[in-house]
Amino acid sequence: MTDTTTTRPFTAASFDQYIAEGKLMASRCADCGALNLPPRAICPKCHSETLEWVETGGKGRLAGFTVVYIAPTFMIEQGYGRDKPYVSGIVELDEGVKVSARITGVDAAQPETIKVGSPVSVEFIETGEGEGRKVALAFKVE
Ligand SMILES: [Zn+2]
Repeated sequence: MTDTTTTRPFTAASFDQYIAEGKLMASRCADCGALNLPPRAICPKCHSETLEWVETGGKGRLAGFTVVYIAPTFMIEQGYGRDKPYVSGIVELDEGVKVSARITGVDAAQPETIKVGSPVSVEFIETGEGEGRKVALAFKVE
């Protein structure tokens, strides 16, 4: 878990930068051990500012989900919308923190087949190229 990039500030921008590098990082409080994801600059539990980056194992369980028919612009650009819904959900990681992300490996047209509690593993969805390259956080139902 040691890497040279752990001095990045505990911001959403750093979090997104890690996602672009294929890493799901959380901030951990050095004083009380609380994990936060997305990272926080101040520990919400004990208000400590002594934090460190830790890479999560990227495994967890589906804690809840919604099928999205009214897609935001960047998803419409990827072909999603009323005729091709996608699934957005909350995943509880093995480390005990929850994160919202795209859910893949499921049939959005048949939400009754999607089971809360299913094991999931992290996935990074790349779209676009060059300047337009984006990497989205997702979890795939195993
Ligand atoms: Zn703390």
